[in-house]
Amino acid sequence: MTAPSPVLPVHALPSYLQADHLGPWGIYLQQVDRVTPYLGNLARWVETLKRPKRALIVDVPIHLDNGTVAHFEGYRVQHNTSRGPGKGGVRFHQDVTLSEVMALSAWMSIKNAAVNVPYGGAKGGIRVDPKTLSRGELERMTRRYTSEIGIIIGPTKDIPAPDVNTNEQIMAWMMDTYSMNEGATSTGVVTGKPIDLGGSLGRREATGRGVYTVGAEAARRIGLEIKGARVAVQGFGNVGGVAGKLFAEAGARVVAVQDHTGAIYREAGLDVPALMAHVAETGGVAGFAPAEVLDKNKFWDVPCDILIPAALEGQITEANAGRITARLVIEGANGPTTPQADDILHDRGVLVLPDVIANAGGVTVSYFEWVQDFSSFFWTEDEINARLVKVMREAFAAVWQVAEDHKVSLRTATFIVACKRILHSRDLRGLYP
Ligand code: NAD
Repeated sequence: MTAPSPVLPVHALPSYLQADHLGPWGIYLQQVDRVTPYLGNLARWVETLKRPKRALIVDVPIHLDNGTVAHFEGYRVQHNTSRGPGKGGVRFHQDVTLSEVMALSAWMSIKNAAVNVPYGGAKGGIRVDPKTLSRGELERMTRRYTSEIGIIIGPTKDIPAPDVNTNEQIMAWMMDTYSMNEGATSTGVVTGKPIDLGGSLGRREATGRGVYTVGAEAARRIGLEIKGARVAVQGFGNVGGVAGKLFAEAGARVVAVQDHTGAIYREAGLDVPALMAHVAETGGVAGFAPAEVLDKNKFWDVPCDILIPAALEGQITEANAGRITARLVIEGANGPTTPQADDILHDRGVLVLPDVIANAGGVTVSYFEWVQDFSSFFWTEDEINARLVKVMREAFAAVWQVAEDHKVSLRTATFIVACKRILHSRDLRGLYP
């Protein structure tokens, strides 16, 4: 019998990794501290979760259309690669910081482990408002960024994907730049690509489908019938639109929708396919009929059974958590609920299905895309959807069981499941990777 490994000595975290209690990295560190007592013997490895494995800061200089040179700051952070290559999106936004990218990369480690896909966690970004760039400038910036982070990404090392303000076209440029530098086409270096360049059927709808799948599982466990349930959705884009459509198809009434153009309400239920067509045509839900116009703030008071925040982070706060009437909140967006609001909802008996499992359908189908690229053999949409549903249901069942066993929230349970999987791999492998 081998003696248990000694507890690892803990050295003070470098200052830039310490919890700033307002920032996303600070919130992540608190979440890890909260689950540490449940990790048993694996807790001796927990320090590895509190430090990203690798963080790269790159300068991204480009020629602007007016002939001058502009410099942008870019990042790629690989939080953990114990279970496989890094995986996570690339965000182009003026508020991107190293702290934010670190936290997002860590949440990717948790999310990927929660749905049991063989990835670690990573994330990237450039601090830029892409709306200020021409298409040519955007392409040059994307390509230069890809070249700069090319030293650490790759189909078996770290696989980027779209996130806020990045899309299929950006992924095509990233794939092409990486491939040109390698001297051979390498479709598996990014996911979320156009179908004609090795993208996967079903990827665009995958996150919303995952939201619906685990949401329906959660509803069933608390005796909430989907047929006839009243659903309110914030954000009617890729995630919120598809989730709303699937709930409506299952017989729910989507009674309220809010997006950046306004909020609308209809007690009898909105015509979701017509609303999707209206949004595609006009850019938002404002002006849709038949529906009542809602004051933006009143959205949170709408009588409903299920609430799906699928827009931005930090939307459910101390200010509105007490007013939410839903029994079930399904986090389609990343980080829509502040920790204080989370506690308020928990105390009020509202079940919160956390982002790290609820919106993991996207990365699950990204995994399928990567597998298909490696084998150069592509699956049908039905196969993809069936496999997605299986992965999501299994992940949800494991999390639900842990929540029951330990009498903890689904967020803490998801962290317990994920951290145990990551640290078990670390335990088997040792100090590397
Ligand atoms: P999207 O751009 O397609 O849609 C965003 C929606 O949010 C739009 O309807 C927009 O009008 C709305 N919105 C923006 N600002 C708003 C505001 N101030 N108030 C209310 N609504 C506002 O984006 P998406 O891909 O649907 O992503 C939504 C969220 O889901 C983000 O948090 C994203 O990180 C997260 N997410 C997306 C995926 C994916 O695969 N797309 C995967 C995981 C997580």
